[in-house]
Amino acid sequence: MIIVLVGPPGSGKGTQSTLISKELKLPCLATGDILREEISKKTPLGLNIEDRINEGRLVETSLINQVISNRVKDTDCEKGFILDGYPRKIDQAIELEKMIAPRKIDKVVGFLIDDETIIKRIAGRFSCTKCNANYNKYYNAPKIENVCDNCGSEEFYTRKDDTSEVCKKRLEEYHLWTEPLFSYYEKQGTLVKIDSSKNIEDITKTILKNILTF
Ligand code: AMP
Repeated sequence: MIIVLVGPPGSGKGTQSTLISKELKLPCLATGDILREEISKKTPLGLNIEDRINEGRLVETSLINQVISNRVKDTDCEKGFILDGYPRKIDQAIELEKMIAPRKIDKVVGFLIDDETIIKRIAGRFSCTKCNANYNKYYNAPKIENVCDNCGSEEFYTRKDDTSEVCKKRLEEYHLWTEPLFSYYEKQGTLVKIDSSKNIEDITKTILKNILTF
């Protein structure tokens, strides 16, 4: 089963991909997490993309295609995977189809939410240093203060690109490049749109219902 999550930054893709990945026992391929790890390890790729990411611009398609085409060949992806943050452009979507052939995407989940809510959400966001689980100090704090619900780690970080200025740039990139994927996948008949302003549990239920009944 191959599932793609498409939506603006701060729409809850990361939170939902972690939950769905656990439920379906499929690996989650989150391009932002993969790229941030490259940056923290100071690999040649990481050094190359660091400025672009911190400025809220998309990284070059050729680089991201390479990262994903290597990752989907791993044995843990044989039964399927969840893509969070890829594709983000039509040309990436076309490349993905070639990469996974003869397999096909089963479902694309499109997250709908307005820009104003996103900017507010991003202001309270933080993540677990160990497993990248996402939290929000206003409405999705860890159940035990300062302890990750997912892995028990007590270390958290705030993303450098989660400032309101960079967030506006990321939204600009989203509207320009990523939003057209909604009509692309609608035409293919794989898209299901969800209202991502709802609460986390309801969204997870809606996504699972749609994924498991196609
Ligand atoms: P995310 O964690 O998904 O919000 O991604 C963080 C940043 O990584 C984005 O703002 C981009 O700079 C970069 N990025 C992640 N996925 C892609 C992609 N598919 N294409 C281009 N840039 C990407």
